[in-house]
Amino acid sequence: MLQSVKSPQGESSINIIGAGIAGSWQALLFARAGYDVTLHERGDAAMMQATSHWAGGMLAPWCEREASEPVITRLGIRSLDLWREQLPETPFNGSLVVSHPRDRTDFERFARLTTDHERLDASGIASLEPSLDGRFREALFFPGEGHVEPRTVLPKLHAKLTEAGAAIKFESDCDPDKITSGIVIDCRGLAARESGARDAYSGLRGVKGEMIVIQTPDVQLSRPVRFLHPRWMLYVIPRDGNRFMLGATSIESEDTGVSVRSALELLSAAYAVHPAFGEARILEFGAGLRPAFPDNLPRIAIDAKRISVNGLYRHGFLLAPALAELTLAYVKRGAIDNEVMDNEVMQCS
Ligand SMILES: Cc1cc2nc3c(=O)[nH]c(=O)nc-3n(C[C@H](O)[C@H](O)[C@H](O)COP(=O)(O)OP(=O)(O)OC[C@H]3O[C@@H](n4cnc5c(N)ncnc54)[C@H](O)[C@@H]3O)c2cc1C
Repeated sequence: MLQSVKSPQGESSINIIGAGIAGSWQALLFARAGYDVTLHERGDAAMMQATSHWAGGMLAPWCEREASEPVITRLGIRSLDLWREQLPETPFNGSLVVSHPRDRTDFERFARLTTDHERLDASGIASLEPSLDGRFREALFFPGEGHVEPRTVLPKLHAKLTEAGAAIKFESDCDPDKITSGIVIDCRGLAARESGARDAYSGLRGVKGEMIVIQTPDVQLSRPVRFLHPRWMLYVIPRDGNRFMLGATSIESEDTGVSVRSALELLSAAYAVHPAFGEARILEFGAGLRPAFPDNLPRIAIDAKRISVNGLYRHGFLLAPALAELTLAYVKRGAIDNEVMDNEVMQCS
C-alpha cells in the first residue's frame, strides 16, 4: 500500500493550521520527530470553533465497520496503538451495543457486519455495567475500543505538543497561501473552503451532528453504550462529573441548530438505555459540522510543500493519529499511502 516519491526532505520548519484533533496530532508527531513546529489556531484555547469540540470522542474501529470502508478500520486500529503510545492514560474499556428486543434483526445485522466483539447475556452486561442490570437481554461487547473526552483531551494534546517543543499560537488566523517558508499542513476542517476553489477541497461539505449533555448521579457507566435505532446509531458516553453525552444525529445540513425532533430522539434513546436518565438535568444542546468529502473518506492531498489533511467526517478522533503518522512518513521519506493520499493533486517538489 505504501510507495515512495520524492518528498520535501530537508525541510525542518512545519506550519500547521487548525488545532482541532487533526492538527493537534500532526503537531504532536512532527514535534516528537524533531521538526520545528508552529500550530496556528484562529480560535482561543477553549476551541469552541472546532468540530472537535462537539464530538463524542469514541475510538471505535470495529463498531464503525458496520457503515464504513475497510480503510477506516485499518487506520483506526493503527490509531489505537498511537493513542496508547502517546497518551497512555487513554481509557480502553470497550464499547457496548444494545437494542430493543423488537429491533433484534438490526442487532443481528450489526453483529454480522462488525468483528472483534463478544456476545453478552443479561448477567454479562450486569457484571460490566451494574447500572444496566435487568435492562437488556443481550449486548455486543467490543473489548478493544476506547473513548476520550474531546474537551479534556484537546488541551492535553496541546500541552504535550508544547512539551515536545512545538509552539501553539491561538487567535492566529492564517491563510495557508500566505505562508511562504517551510511545509504547510492545512488542518482547517470545513473552513478550508474559505481559501477559494482548490482541487484539494472540492466537494468538502459539513454533515451536522447534534448532541446533548446531561447530568445525573443515578446512572454509572464505564464505557460508551450504543443503542441501535432505526434512523441513527445513538449513544450515551460517560463523562466526568456524572455527565453523559448523548449523540449523535447525522444530517446533510450546515445549519448548526438542534431540532426538537433530534432532541426528542436523543433523549428518548437515553431514556431507553436507563429510565433514570429521565430525571437527569440537561446541561447543553449543541451541534457540530463534520468535514466530509463526497465519499466520506479522509484525504491527505499533497501539492508541493502544502499538505492538506481533511474529510475526517465522523472519525476524526479515531483517525487523526494514523493520518499524522502517514503525513510524517511522507515528509520524512516520501512514503505514499495510496488509499488516503490524493495522487491527482500531487506534484512533489
Ligand atoms: C456530534 C459529533 C460527534 C462526533 N463523534 C465522534 C466520535 O465519537 N469519534 C470520532 O472519531 N469522531 C467523531 N466526530 C467527528 C469529529 O469530531 C471530526 O471528524 C473532527 O472533529 C474533525 O477534526 P478537524 O481537526 O479536521 O476539524 P476541526 O475540529 O473543525 O478543527 C479545525 C480547526 O481549524 C481552525 N481554523 C479554521 N480556519 C483557520 C485559519 N484560517 N487559521 C487558523 N485556524 C483555523 C478552526 O478554528 C478549528 O479549530 C463527531 C462529530 C460530531 C459533530
